Amino acid sequence: MDEILTLKNITKKYPIKKGENVLALSDFSFDFNENRLYFILGKSGSGKSTLINIIAGLDKPTSGEIFLDDKNITDFKDFNIDNYRNTFIGFIFQEYNLLSDLSVKENIALALQLQGKKILESEILEVLDKVNIKDLINRKINELSGGQKQRVAIARALIKKPRIIIADEPTGSLDKETSIQIFDILKELSKDHLVIAVSHNEDLAVRYAGEIIKLENGKISSIDIHSKTLYIDKENDRSIINSQMPFLTSFKIGFSYLKIKFSKLIITILLSVMAFTCLGIAITANDYDITQIIINSYVANGYKENLTIYELEETSDNYWNSKCFSLNDINKINEDLNANFKGVYKQINLNSQNFLNIPTLDYKGTYDTTLLLNLSGLISLNKAEFEELGYSIYGNYPTSNNEIAIPYLYYETYKKYGYIDSEISLTPNEITIESLIGKTIKIGFNDLTISGIIDTKLNMEEFSTLKYYNNNDTELNRLYYLYNSIVSYNYHSVGFMLDCASTFTGSANSDNAIYQFIFDDLPNNKNSVSMIVKYFNQKNTVNNKYYFNNSLNTKIDGLDSNLNFYKNIAFYSGLILLLFSTLLLFSFINNSISNKEKEMGIFKALGARSKDVFMIFSCEGIYISIINFILSSVICSILINYFNNSFNYSYLINFDIYNFNFWKIIILFLIIILSTFIAILIPIIKISRKSPIQTINNK
Ligand code: ADP
Ligand code: MG
Repeated sequence: MDEILTLKNITKKYPIKKGENVLALSDFSFDFNENRLYFILGKSGSGKSTLINIIAGLDKPTSGEIFLDDKNITDFKDFNIDNYRNTFIGFIFQEYNLLSDLSVKENIALALQLQGKKILESEILEVLDKVNIKDLINRKINELSGGQKQRVAIARALIKKPRIIIADEPTGSLDKETSIQIFDILKELSKDHLVIAVSHNEDLAVRYAGEIIKLENGKISSIDIHSKTLYIDKENDRSIINSQMPFLTSFKIGFSYLKIKFSKLIITILLSVMAFTCLGIAITANDYDITQIIINSYVANGYKENLTIYELEETSDNYWNSKCFSLNDINKINEDLNANFKGVYKQINLNSQNFLNIPTLDYKGTYDTTLLLNLSGLISLNKAEFEELGYSIYGNYPTSNNEIAIPYLYYETYKKYGYIDSEISLTPNEITIESLIGKTIKIGFNDLTISGIIDTKLNMEEFSTLKYYNNNDTELNRLYYLYNSIVSYNYHSVGFMLDCASTFTGSANSDNAIYQFIFDDLPNNKNSVSMIVKYFNQKNTVNNKYYFNNSLNTKIDGLDSNLNFYKNIAFYSGLILLLFSTLLLFSFINNSISNKEKEMGIFKALGARSKDVFMIFSCEGIYISIINFILSSVICSILINYFNNSFNYSYLINFDIYNFNFWKIIILFLIIILSTFIAILIPIIKISRKSPIQTINNK
């Protein structure tokens, strides 16, 4: 005997939630021969479907063994049961289980694709010819009659060139005449296939069957052999198809198979893009850092500003007082930073034009904002230290304690307004560098003689537009802040003396905190600036803080508290949004995959491997999350850009506060991918625990 399929002691018990297990097949043994038509008859519930599902590899027996060509297929792992179905089985359902949106051709082509084979039109025509519907090749499934659909289903089974064709009540939904035509086809196929068909129609079975197996309560009640087997000499290909579907193919099938409910998809994408956009903004707003902002402002201004630092101390509630540095403090800072900070002495009030002997100002026309009217402090430098700076001097560097050298900017002020003291008065026209040298200015109660005028190499060219300064012009306003930062509290605005401390209060003992602020040249690379800014910001405590006198100076507290406010909102809303957007994406994808459980089962019945089926159905989720990621990162960067612009406008700054950079995009990407991944994985794990037939029957 040339049996190909042997069932030995197959038992199938279905576990049910309550009560005893259902015994659907009990100790079933049978040999199926090649090239014969078997009919399985029996009352409803007698175990017919259970039997052929097990034979088709759509379900596993509880115990017992199945042999195909003497190979035990029940020994196989799941992976191999996929290959078994793929290679040997063509399955025909009562309800056809065709994809009704696709054409006849596409349905059959799909079976080929799921096997990882090339689509050949000639092959498709060949199988359609076998079932006599060659001319329907381009019809849509929902344009066919029941009988025609079942022919398509048979053709779809045949295209795989299976050795075994299994049909579960293939004519159950058809009228008698059509049923006869279908059985004619099955009979014809049994010439070179093993065909096993379940039927409830005993008359037809008797007419067509090679053998009839009657079942009762999961056991064989009788076997009728009706005709001798027609043996046809034919070598069957017995090699197992172990096709790997390329990733791209599963994506392509997935794409063509996208049965998108458009409105639901649009709403989901819209909502989740909104949520993910807000999440991106929250992540960005949460990542602000005042230290970074100070650094960025120095960089954005082209390292033109000086590094001028105050120390403030909270003396009473919310009242901040300037705290002075001692020589020791400055030495320590210079040592820590390998810097050259200089302390500026400023114990008396210098903020009066009277001390500088400038005549009462007469504002004629536009006020010239580029002029300085008071010294911002006094600095003690000896000649060697001065020369190190590389500045040039008209006249002489001070040689005694009652001499002072003033920066060039003050010369320009005198040039504009003139000079006056108890003995002499010079009009603007009479002011020259030579005329100023030897004149006196008053600091406190001391008269100091101007020994020279120092060119501090300040390029005033770029601030020349400030002469037309207008409060409403944002760009001039920004420039004004920058100019003020550049010329106040540094070399351009202090008086140079040999020893200013002894002039006013005695000696500059290293323990005396007599320097009101310190300054140094700003390094012109971001790393060094970062290091310095971080150094001082780390020294900040609750009631003590180091304050950078830069162009942000007057705005920084407002900016800081504003950004902090947004940061707090961003943090909490970010957490909520994270939950919301993840859940939204998760529920949509999870739902969409769960809804396709039946299709997954059908694809597996057609011979697709579990892995490929999951790939095909993960597609939608992956597409959605990619669209989601692209849209939300684009919208996010547009919005962040908008926020930055409005910050720039209202705080007169020329750099971005928020930075939606590479890492934030990556974080967003990971969150989206992770929630997609979990959303895909959970239903797939749930589904993969079930047998294919369970998923098909799961409506
Ligand atoms: P038939 O196809 O002959 O009508 P089935 O093989 O479908 O019969 O069913 C055989 C027995 O197993 C029936 O009693 C049925 O109720 C039971 N059965 C079938 N499938 C399941 C299942 N998934 N869970 C529980 N019981 C089942
Ligand atoms: Mg049944």
